[in-house]
Amino acid sequence: MKVLITGGAGFIGSHLAEAYLERGDEVYIIDDLSTGSLDNLQPFTEDPRFNNRIFVTIDTILNHNVMLELTGICDIVFHLAAAVGVRTILEKPLESIRTNIQGTEKVLELCDKFKKKVLIASTSEVYGKHLHAPLVETDNIIYGPSSKFRWSYAASKLMDEFTALAYYRTNGLKAVITRLFNTVGPRQTGAYGMVIPRFVDQALHGDSLTIYGDGMQTRTFTYVKDVVRAFIMLMETDEAVGEVFNVGGIEEITIRNLAEKIIALTGSGSTIEYIPYEKAFGKDFEDMMRRVPGMDKIRALIGYEPEVPLDEMLRRIVAAQKGSSS
Ligand code: UDP
Repeated sequence: MKVLITGGAGFIGSHLAEAYLERGDEVYIIDDLSTGSLDNLQPFTEDPRFNNRIFVTIDTILNHNVMLELTGICDIVFHLAAAVGVRTILEKPLESIRTNIQGTEKVLELCDKFKKKVLIASTSEVYGKHLHAPLVETDNIIYGPSSKFRWSYAASKLMDEFTALAYYRTNGLKAVITRLFNTVGPRQTGAYGMVIPRFVDQALHGDSLTIYGDGMQTRTFTYVKDVVRAFIMLMETDEAVGEVFNVGGIEEITIRNLAEKIIALTGSGSTIEYIPYEKAFGKDFEDMMRRVPGMDKIRALIGYEPEVPLDEMLRRIVAAQKGSSS
């Protein structure tokens, strides 16, 4: 099978590429390297087992002719190319909205034209400012005002979901939508704000771990290999078409406890530094205080359970980051 992965040089995309290469499939990647990196793909492009089965195009998904050719060649499409991380959204709001809205529209238009099944990687950001847990796919959505630019990411991803569902309802496009909850693992960089690679890096260097706010906000982390497994299973399940699924983990943890865990795990002498949100992100920011996925829907359809517990995720990430900094 030929698999197209937009954003395939990114953190999650590269793990998805690896999974399909291991299965013996051909992987086509398009990535503009805005946040992805060819280093993420180097283990596979140089692996003789994958000779002539990985094809990388460095370009934007907004390039119609390139996307026309790639979508035409491939059997299924994973659309992962997007603006990444809250920091990117706040620093490059226009570019981020354009990539998310126009880019996804392009991917969907071509998948519809060639009748190719497509998985859209959306985000738990879409839920907005809820305090309850768990968040389920049928929940209402609550955003802050448009002056708080963080919500532009959520709103643009929500529009992606609506567009995919509209193509499904109108033209029968086989589209599967996933909402990801804080995916982590090796190859994720802290450069775009993600908390675990940042804390691990700070702990390994003996720097203070920078907690934004009071650290009582919570998250639920998912190991990237679990996400990849869910993606592949959903794409192989007919009933997933035209549906939205949370893909997440099960252990809710405060950011303060996470910092303490990482300090203990690395044996670091680092201390914790609390930084007000306004100092970290400027005044146009507000955080999501809680983010826990309801997993009943995906569990019922494909029997999905995350396999890697948080402590094990952290051990693997620490080992990988130790290796890359030595
Ligand atoms: N965070 C933090 N220190 C950091 C980076 C992030 O305290 O150096 C917090 C951030 O404010 C959020 C949580 O960790 O509450 C998760 O942030 P991340 O950017 O990883 O993902 P998000 O859930 O915000 O998309």
